[in-house]
Order: sequence, then C-alpha cells, then structure tokens
Amino acid sequence: MKFSELLKGLTPYTAGEQPKNKKYIKLNTNENAYPPSPSVRGVLAAFDADALRLYPDPDASELKLTLAERYGLSPENIFTGNGSDEILGFCFPAFFDRESPPVLFPDVTYSFYPVYAALYGIPYKTPPLRADYTVDAACYSPLVSPSQGVIIANPNAPTGIALPLYGIEEILVQNRETVVIVDEAYAEFGGVTAMPLIDEYDNLLVVRTFSKAYSLAGIRCGYAVGQKPLIDALGVIKNSFNSYTLDSLTIKIAAAACRDMEYYDMINERIANIRDGAARRLRADGFTVLDSAANFLFLKKDGVCGERLFSALKERGILTRHFKGSRTSDFIRATVGTDTETEVFCGAVKEIADGILHGKG
Ligand SMILES: *Cc1c(COP(=O)(O)O)cnc(C)c1O
Repeated sequence: MKFSELLKGLTPYTAGEQPKNKKYIKLNTNENAYPPSPSVRGVLAAFDADALRLYPDPDASELKLTLAERYGLSPENIFTGNGSDEILGFCFPAFFDRESPPVLFPDVTYSFYPVYAALYGIPYKTPPLRADYTVDAACYSPLVSPSQGVIIANPNAPTGIALPLYGIEEILVQNRETVVIVDEAYAEFGGVTAMPLIDEYDNLLVVRTFSKAYSLAGIRCGYAVGQKPLIDALGVIKNSFNSYTLDSLTIKIAAAACRDMEYYDMINERIANIRDGAARRLRADGFTVLDSAANFLFLKKDGVCGERLFSALKERGILTRHFKGSRTSDFIRATVGTDTETEVFCGAVKEIADGILHGKG
C-alpha cells in the first residue's frame, strides 16, 4: 500500500487511557469528579429521536447565542468545535504558515500543540518555563524570539500553574500583529481568564472546553472567543473540512449546561477546595506539589521516580498520568477526584513513596 510521506513523519498524540475492563479510581484525564448539571439530564430525557433524521445546524446558533449572552458578546465573536482539540487543530492552518518564523509555546505544556504543528508542517519553538515551572512572558517578545504566533495554556498543563493576567497582557502587547491563543481548558477552576481582554486585543483568541469544568468530556464540545476576523478565519477552515462538527444533541446539551452556571460554580469550587486540601496534605507528607489553579495536581517526591509512582498507583487501582521528558518525568499528574477518591489517592501515594524510599535506604 502507498501511504503519504506526511504520515510516515507523524507521531500522534497519546490520549490518557480509558479503561474498559478494570474498575479504577480514574485520575488520569482530568474529567470532572461530579456529574453534569440537572438540565443536561433534562435535555437527554426530552430529546426527540426523530430530530436525528436531519443534519444539525451547521452554525450551532443556539449554543453560540447562549455563550454570547453569557459573555456579553455577539455570536460573531464565538466559534464552536468538536472539542477544543479540534479548534486548536483548526488554528494552525488558519493562522500559521510553513515558511514563516516559528510558533511559540512553552517547553512544558499541552503535548498536542507540537502534534498539530507537525501535521501542518508548521515550525515551532519552545521557550523554557522558568526553573519554578512558571511562564516567563519576556520569552515571547519578538525581540527575543521572532514568531508567527503564540499558544499559552492558562492554567498550564500539566503543571496547573496559572499565569497572572498581566503576563498574558504582556504577551498580547508584544505580539500585536500575530495571534495569541490562550487555551483556557481549566480556567473555571480558579485561574484567571483573558476573556475581558477580547475587546482591546484583536490578536487574542481564548479557547475553552465543556470537557473539564462542565463535566461533558463525552459529548466533545469546545468554543473559542475573539474578535470577528479571527472567528471568521476559523470558520473558513472548518467549512473547508466538515460543515457539521457539532451534532444536534451536543448543541442542545452544551447550551443547557451554560444555563446552569450556579450548579457548575458550586461543583468546581468544591473541586478547587479538595485540590487545595490535598496539596497541603501532600506537601506536609514531603511531596513537591506545584501551585495548581486547575482540577489536577502535578507532584513529585525527591528520590522517587515518577514512572514508578505511576505504575505502583496503577497496580493499586489508581490511574494517574506520567509524562516522559527531562522536566516532567519526576512528576505524576493526578486529577482532583471526589473527597473519597482524593483521600484514597493521598494515602496511597504517600505509602508507595515511603515504601520506595525505605526500600532503598
Ligand atoms: C483537555 C484539554 C484540552 C482538550 O479539551 P477537549 O475540549 O476535550 O478537546 C485542550 N487543552 C488542554 C490544555 C487540555 O488539558
């Protein structure tokens, strides 16, 4: 069989495991610990199967209107997609060229960004996070690194650390002529949001998802917010690829979830409290835990290999995530679960680390 030259050069993203047989405490893909809001159930119960005969609204107008209302914007400022991954994937052909300066994103960040860059053959460069894993906004100045755009996950993944708004603004000011994509997959868990800067900066695109804060990873829905030219550009790419990226059920479910913010604020505040309690406890037990504004913790213990910690937890029925790479391999990333799940995780990770250290000593 003939395959493309492109295909041979690709290393695809590895998604976190979705176990099928064994029952795990699943803390590996940052899904929400709590169920979707009551009105999501209502939509599912009331949904008329006959409606599935027709193609969905290619513009997802109901969802765009709901989101626009919520942010005090116009539907022209909103783009919706099949998960924020799809939107990020559309950003590369919409804003970046092959024969141009590199796109910039941190050395430690969401590992899908370099995969999209490779798919579209777009050059990229990865300014290092500081030693404390914070983003150094100065690295994104064209005087330091000429670029054709910047992508910042805020809070960052897998560190969980949020860059204050003045850092985002510094990057926006330095790059007036090129797009700055702020991936806010975890903003609802206590990070800052760049949303208020949309009016002032025509180079800002904020990307959000229903997967984490809305407990809807199963429906695949994300959105982007920005000024009209950026949104229109994404529309051109989408309509050159697939007119119907959101199915009719997803549009209704996501719109219903947006109208239940009281519920979501409540569960996400609860998750933030569990996160902060767990971080304190783990630090008291001698772990290094980065300051997380997301629904996960990135932690390590001196003298304990991250991969061993990951494997031992898995053997005990607790799934976390381990990332190879010189700056991440000492760590594991654990989603913040319910109170009980978090209790079990904190106890197990301490026992395992102590066992490894004593075994050695
Ligand atoms: C989970 C995640 C996404 C993807 O979200 P989907 O909407 O489920 O595709 C994007 N960016 C970051 C940083 C994430 O952690």
